[in-house]
Amino acid sequence: MKRLIKVWILLLLVMCMIVPARAHAAGKVKVKYHGVSKNYSGKITTVYINGKKKTIRSGPVFKKDGTYVGSLSHLLVNSAFKVKYKNSGKKAILTYKGKKLTLVDGSRNVVVNGVKEKKALGTIAMRAARYTSSGYTGWIVPLKSVCKRLRISYQVKSGAIYLGKTALPASTSKTKEGSDNTKTSAVNTKTSSAASAVTTSNSVDFSKPSANKQVILVLDAGHGGVDSGAVGSKYKEKNLTLAIILAAKQYFDKDTRFKVYYTRTTDAYPSLSDRSKLANNNNADLFISVHINSASSSATGTETLYNNSRLGTTGKNGVNSKELAQAMQNAVLKSTGFRDRGLVNRTGLWVLNKTTMPACLIEYGFISNSKEESLMYASTSKYGKDLYEAIAAFAKAKGLI
Ligand SMILES: [Zn+2]
Repeated sequence: MKRLIKVWILLLLVMCMIVPARAHAAGKVKVKYHGVSKNYSGKITTVYINGKKKTIRSGPVFKKDGTYVGSLSHLLVNSAFKVKYKNSGKKAILTYKGKKLTLVDGSRNVVVNGVKEKKALGTIAMRAARYTSSGYTGWIVPLKSVCKRLRISYQVKSGAIYLGKTALPASTSKTKEGSDNTKTSAVNTKTSSAASAVTTSNSVDFSKPSANKQVILVLDAGHGGVDSGAVGSKYKEKNLTLAIILAAKQYFDKDTRFKVYYTRTTDAYPSLSDRSKLANNNNADLFISVHINSASSSATGTETLYNNSRLGTTGKNGVNSKELAQAMQNAVLKSTGFRDRGLVNRTGLWVLNKTTMPACLIEYGFISNSKEESLMYASTSKYGKDLYEAIAAFAKAKGLI
C-alpha cells in the first residue's frame, strides 16, 4: 500500500513537470509528406545563415527520424549558398565555396563534386512536402547531412538553426539532435567542447586549435618508387595511395593540432623498416597506412587491417589499434561507398608489427575490379579530405586534441 502511494506521488510530480513544458513547446507542424498528412514535432522557424537571422514561418524546419529536415529553397536560396534546379525541379544542384552537391527527387544518394555517395542522406530522401497551414511546398532534405557534404557548419541551439558562420548566443547547452543517419557518428559524437561549439562535429574548425594538445601522426602512402604495389588495368596502387595522402596533407598542413610525418610525399620507396622507424623514432601517437587491394576481378569492398596481438600496446589515453582501425573503417566505408569487408586481424605485416603505437592499414578498394579502380582514381581528393576529417574526429573523440 505504501508503495502505491509513493507511485501516485511520483506520477503527480511527473505530470506537474510535463504539463507546463508541453504547453510551451507548441513545436508541431502539419505537413503532407510521403503522401501522408501528419503532425511533425521539432518545429523551428528561426534560422541564422552566416549570422543573419531569417524567419521561415511558412515552411519551418521539423524533425523526422530523429534528425532535422527543412526546405532547400527556404533555407538556402537568397543566401550565401546557391541552389539551382533542373529536370522540372527534380534535381537540385547546391553550390558553396567550390563544393557542389547534387540531390535528386526520391533519392538518398547524392553526388559530391562529381563523386556519387550512396545513402548519404541516411533514411531521408529528398522529397517534396506541402505545409498544411501555409500551403507552401518545398523540397525537404535532412539538414545535417546536406550541410556536411557542402562543408557548411550546422548547429541546432536554443530553438534555432545556425548555418555557416555562426554568431552563437553565449549560453552553453547544446541541443541534442539524436541520430544523424550517418554511420561515422561513432567517432564524431563526443565533440562538444567550447573550442568546437561553433562548428558541427563533422566540420573541423582550423582557426581554433584546442588547448595546445598536439597529435603526432605518421601517414604512410603504401609502396612507391620501384614498388608499384598492386597494378590494375589502368592505374597503380602506389600512385593512388600517394594521391590520397597528398590530398589529406593539404588539410593537415593548415591544422596546427597535428604534427604529421609522411613516409613519402613523392614517388619514392622508403623501406618498411624506414617507415616503422619514422613512427617509432618520433614517438608518433598514431600510424595510418593507406593501401589499395587486389584479388580476382569480382572481389570488392573496403577493409582495414590491424594487429590483434598488439592490442595490449595502447597509446595516449588508452587508444588501441582496433579502435583506430574501426574508426577508419567506418569513415572510409562512407567515403568509398564500397562493400564493408570489416576489420582484418593481420599479425605478420611489418608496419603493424614493428610500430610501437596504435596502427592500422586501410585497403580502400580493389584495383583488380575495374569499377572500383576507376572510382578510386576519380576520388583520391575526396578520400584525402575525408581521411583528414576522420582522423581529426577520432583524435577529438579520444581527447588527443
Ligand atoms: Zn599495398
